[in-house]
Amino acid sequence: MKETKKQCRQCGTCCRKGGPALSREDILLVRQGYIRHDQLITIRRGETGYNPATGRLEPVPVELLKIRGKGAGWTCLFFDEEDNGCTIYAHRPVTCRILQCRQPEALLATIYRDTLSRAELINPDDPILAVIDRHERTCPGDLAAMLAERGGTEDIALLTELVRADLAIRGEVAQQAGISLEMEFFLFGRPLFKQLTGMGMEWVDENGELRFKRRKKSSMSD
Ligand code: SF4
Repeated sequence: MKETKKQCRQCGTCCRKGGPALSREDILLVRQGYIRHDQLITIRRGETGYNPATGRLEPVPVELLKIRGKGAGWTCLFFDEEDNGCTIYAHRPVTCRILQCRQPEALLATIYRDTLSRAELINPDDPILAVIDRHERTCPGDLAAMLAERGGTEDIALLTELVRADLAIRGEVAQQAGISLEMEFFLFGRPLFKQLTGMGMEWVDENGELRFKRRKKSSMSD
Protein backbone atom coordinates (compact mmCIF):
# COMPACT_ATOMS: atom_id res chain seq x y z
CA MET A 1 0.00 0.00 0.00
CA LYS A 2 1.31 3.43 -0.93
CA GLU A 3 2.11 5.46 2.16
CA THR A 4 0.61 8.92 2.37
CA LYS A 5 2.06 11.75 4.44
CA LYS A 6 -0.59 11.34 7.12
CA GLN A 7 -0.20 7.60 7.66
CA CYS A 8 1.64 6.30 10.70
CA ARG A 9 5.22 5.33 9.86
CA GLN A 10 5.49 3.42 13.12
CA CYS A 11 8.63 5.33 14.01
CA GLY A 12 7.94 4.88 17.74
CA THR A 13 8.26 8.59 18.55
CA CYS A 14 4.82 8.75 20.19
CA CYS A 15 5.53 5.64 22.27
CA ARG A 16 8.79 7.19 23.48
CA LYS A 17 6.97 10.33 24.62
CA GLY A 18 4.94 8.37 27.17
CA GLY A 19 2.29 5.73 27.62
CA PRO A 20 -1.35 6.55 26.93
CA ALA A 21 -4.11 7.27 29.43
CA LEU A 22 -6.75 4.54 29.34
CA SER A 23 -10.31 5.19 28.30
CA ARG A 24 -13.39 3.29 29.49
CA GLU A 25 -13.28 1.42 26.18
CA ASP A 26 -9.99 -0.11 27.34
CA ILE A 27 -11.46 -1.79 30.41
CA LEU A 28 -11.49 -5.22 28.77
CA LEU A 29 -7.76 -4.97 28.05
CA VAL A 30 -7.22 -4.94 31.81
CA ARG A 31 -9.95 -7.44 32.66
CA GLN A 32 -8.60 -9.88 30.06
CA GLY A 33 -5.03 -9.46 31.33
CA TYR A 34 -3.41 -7.70 28.37
CA ILE A 35 -2.58 -4.79 30.68
CA ARG A 36 -2.03 -5.42 34.40
CA HIS A 37 -2.88 -3.05 37.23
CA ASP A 38 0.79 -2.78 38.17
CA GLN A 39 1.61 -1.62 34.63
CA LEU A 40 -0.50 1.50 35.22
CA ILE A 41 0.19 4.66 37.15
CA THR A 42 -2.60 6.78 38.54
CA ILE A 43 -2.51 10.52 37.91
CA ARG A 44 -4.89 11.83 40.53
CA ARG A 45 -7.36 14.61 39.81
CA GLY A 46 -5.66 17.96 40.34
CA GLU A 47 -2.13 16.62 39.90
CA THR A 48 0.05 18.49 37.47
CA GLY A 49 0.28 16.78 34.10
CA TYR A 50 1.16 17.58 30.52
CA ASN A 51 -1.85 18.64 28.47
CA PRO A 52 -1.11 17.96 24.77
CA ALA A 53 -3.98 20.24 23.75
CA THR A 54 -2.34 23.31 25.33
CA GLY A 55 1.25 22.09 25.37
CA ARG A 56 1.46 23.07 29.04
CA LEU A 57 1.79 21.45 32.44
CA GLU A 58 -1.59 21.91 34.09
CA PRO A 59 -3.71 20.36 36.85
CA VAL A 60 -5.55 17.39 35.33
CA PRO A 61 -9.34 17.80 35.75
CA VAL A 62 -10.06 14.06 36.05
CA GLU A 63 -8.31 10.98 37.36
CA LEU A 64 -6.17 9.29 34.70
CA LEU A 65 -4.72 5.80 34.48
CA LYS A 66 -1.63 5.85 32.30
CA ILE A 67 0.57 3.03 31.13
CA ARG A 68 3.82 3.43 33.07
CA GLY A 69 7.11 4.37 31.52
CA LYS A 70 10.16 2.12 31.51
CA GLY A 71 12.23 2.68 34.63
CA ALA A 72 12.48 6.39 35.34
CA GLY A 73 11.98 7.28 31.66
CA TRP A 74 8.89 8.19 29.65
CA THR A 75 9.02 5.47 26.97
CA CYS A 76 5.89 3.32 27.19
CA LEU A 77 6.40 0.06 29.04
CA PHE A 78 5.09 -1.87 26.05
CA PHE A 79 7.45 -0.36 23.51
CA ASP A 80 10.11 -2.78 22.27
CA GLU A 81 13.21 -0.80 21.29
CA GLU A 82 14.76 -3.74 19.45
CA ASP A 83 11.75 -4.31 17.21
CA ASN A 84 10.76 -0.64 17.31
CA GLY A 85 7.20 -1.72 17.94
CA CYS A 86 4.39 -2.27 20.39
CA THR A 87 4.37 -5.60 22.22
CA ILE A 88 0.58 -5.44 22.67
CA TYR A 89 -0.16 -4.01 19.24
CA ALA A 90 -3.29 -6.10 18.63
CA HIS A 91 -4.55 -5.09 22.08
CA ARG A 92 -3.25 -1.53 22.33
CA PRO A 93 -5.41 1.14 24.01
CA VAL A 94 -7.87 3.34 22.13
CA THR A 95 -5.58 6.38 22.34
CA CYS A 96 -2.85 4.53 20.46
CA ARG A 97 -5.32 3.46 17.81
CA ILE A 98 -6.56 6.94 17.04
CA LEU A 99 -3.30 8.85 17.42
CA GLN A 100 -1.86 10.18 14.19
CA CYS A 101 1.06 12.44 15.01
CA ARG A 102 0.68 14.44 11.80
CA GLN A 103 -3.05 14.88 12.35
CA PRO A 104 -3.61 14.96 16.13
CA GLU A 105 -7.09 16.56 16.12
CA ALA A 106 -8.95 13.28 16.65
CA LEU A 107 -6.82 12.48 19.68
CA LEU A 108 -6.97 15.98 21.16
CA ALA A 109 -10.78 15.82 21.02
CA THR A 110 -10.72 12.82 23.38
CA ILE A 111 -8.47 14.29 26.07
CA TYR A 112 -9.98 13.96 29.57
CA ARG A 113 -13.12 12.31 28.15
CA ASP A 114 -14.42 8.87 29.18
CA THR A 115 -11.29 8.20 31.16
CA LEU A 116 -10.95 4.99 33.13
CA SER A 117 -10.52 5.29 36.89
CA ARG A 118 -9.13 3.05 39.64
CA ALA A 119 -12.55 2.29 41.10
CA GLU A 120 -13.63 0.77 37.78
CA LEU A 121 -10.77 -1.72 37.93
CA ILE A 122 -11.19 -2.77 41.56
CA ASN A 123 -13.78 -5.18 42.93
CA PRO A 124 -16.42 -3.06 44.74
CA ASP A 125 -16.09 -5.33 47.81
CA ASP A 126 -12.33 -4.88 48.03
CA PRO A 127 -11.42 -3.03 51.29
CA ILE A 128 -8.61 -1.26 49.45
CA LEU A 129 -11.26 1.13 48.07
CA ALA A 130 -11.82 2.53 51.56
CA VAL A 131 -8.07 3.05 51.95
CA ILE A 132 -7.90 4.84 48.59
CA ASP A 133 -10.78 7.05 49.72
CA ARG A 134 -8.97 7.84 52.99
CA HIS A 135 -5.81 8.62 51.06
CA GLU A 136 -7.71 11.00 48.75
CA ARG A 137 -9.23 12.85 51.71
CA THR A 138 -6.01 12.97 53.73
CA CYS A 139 -3.49 13.63 50.96
CA PRO A 140 -5.27 15.50 48.14
CA GLY A 141 -4.02 15.16 44.59
CA ASP A 142 -4.68 18.85 43.93
CA LEU A 143 -1.84 19.82 46.20
CA ALA A 144 -0.86 22.90 44.19
CA ALA A 145 -4.39 24.33 44.36
CA MET A 146 -4.70 23.56 48.05
CA LEU A 147 -1.39 25.22 48.86
CA ALA A 148 -2.22 28.22 46.67
CA GLU A 149 -5.41 28.67 48.69
CA ARG A 150 -3.27 28.73 51.82
CA GLY A 151 -0.93 31.34 50.44
CA GLY A 152 1.66 29.29 48.56
CA THR A 153 4.09 26.55 49.32
CA GLU A 154 5.74 28.09 52.35
CA ASP A 155 3.82 26.08 54.93
CA ILE A 156 6.59 23.61 55.65
CA ALA A 157 4.77 22.07 58.60
CA LEU A 158 1.70 21.34 56.48
CA LEU A 159 3.77 19.87 53.66
CA THR A 160 5.63 17.65 56.07
CA GLU A 161 2.39 16.51 57.63
CA LEU A 162 0.89 15.65 54.23
CA VAL A 163 3.97 13.84 53.01
CA ARG A 164 4.18 11.81 56.20
CA ALA A 165 0.48 10.90 55.97
CA ASP A 166 0.96 9.86 52.33
CA LEU A 167 3.95 7.68 53.16
CA ALA A 168 2.19 6.23 56.22
CA ILE A 169 -0.81 5.03 54.18
CA ARG A 170 1.45 3.57 51.51
CA GLY A 171 3.57 1.86 54.15
CA GLU A 172 0.51 0.50 55.93
CA VAL A 173 -0.82 -1.13 52.72
CA ALA A 174 2.61 -2.38 51.68
CA GLN A 175 3.05 -4.03 55.07
CA GLN A 176 -0.43 -5.54 55.26
CA ALA A 177 -0.81 -6.67 51.65
CA GLY A 178 2.83 -6.99 50.57
CA ILE A 179 2.23 -5.02 47.38
CA SER A 180 4.97 -4.01 44.96
CA LEU A 181 6.05 -0.41 44.39
CA GLU A 182 4.44 -0.62 40.95
CA MET A 183 1.11 -1.67 42.49
CA GLU A 184 1.44 1.20 44.96
CA PHE A 185 1.67 3.63 42.02
CA PHE A 186 -1.59 2.23 40.66
CA LEU A 187 -3.37 2.41 44.04
CA PHE A 188 -2.12 5.82 45.23
CA GLY A 189 -0.38 7.51 42.31
CA ARG A 190 2.92 9.34 42.69
CA PRO A 191 4.09 10.01 46.25
CA LEU A 192 3.46 13.59 47.38
CA PHE A 193 7.15 14.27 47.89
CA LYS A 194 7.69 13.55 44.19
CA GLN A 195 4.99 16.05 43.28
CA LEU A 196 6.53 18.65 45.54
CA THR A 197 9.86 18.19 43.83
CA GLY A 198 8.13 19.18 40.59
CA MET A 199 6.63 22.22 42.33
CA GLY A 200 9.93 23.86 43.10
CA MET A 201 10.44 22.27 46.51
CA GLU A 202 13.18 19.98 47.64
CA TRP A 203 13.30 17.73 50.63
CA VAL A 204 15.98 16.19 52.72
CA ASP A 205 15.81 13.23 55.04
CA GLU A 206 17.69 14.13 58.22
CA ASN A 207 17.92 11.11 60.49
CA GLY A 208 14.48 9.95 59.39
CA GLU A 209 12.95 13.44 59.63
CA LEU A 210 11.68 14.98 56.39
CA ARG A 211 12.45 18.64 55.90
CA PHE A 212 11.31 20.76 52.97
CA LYS A 213 12.66 23.93 51.54
CA ARG A 214 12.10 25.91 48.40
CA ARG A 215 14.76 25.58 45.74
CA LYS A 216 16.48 28.84 44.92
CA LYS A 217 15.13 28.84 41.37
CA SER A 218 11.70 27.23 41.13
CA SER A 219 11.29 24.68 38.32
CA MET A 220 7.53 25.00 38.45
CA SER A 221 6.04 25.87 35.09
CA ASP A 222 3.10 27.83 36.43
S1 SF4 B 1 0.69 0.73 24.13
FE1 SF4 B 1 1.91 0.23 22.32
S2 SF4 B 1 1.26 1.71 20.75
FE2 SF4 B 1 0.59 2.50 22.73
S3 SF4 B 1 2.24 3.90 23.43
FE3 SF4 B 1 2.63 1.85 24.30
S4 SF4 B 1 4.02 0.85 22.86
FE4 SF4 B 1 3.07 2.58 21.78
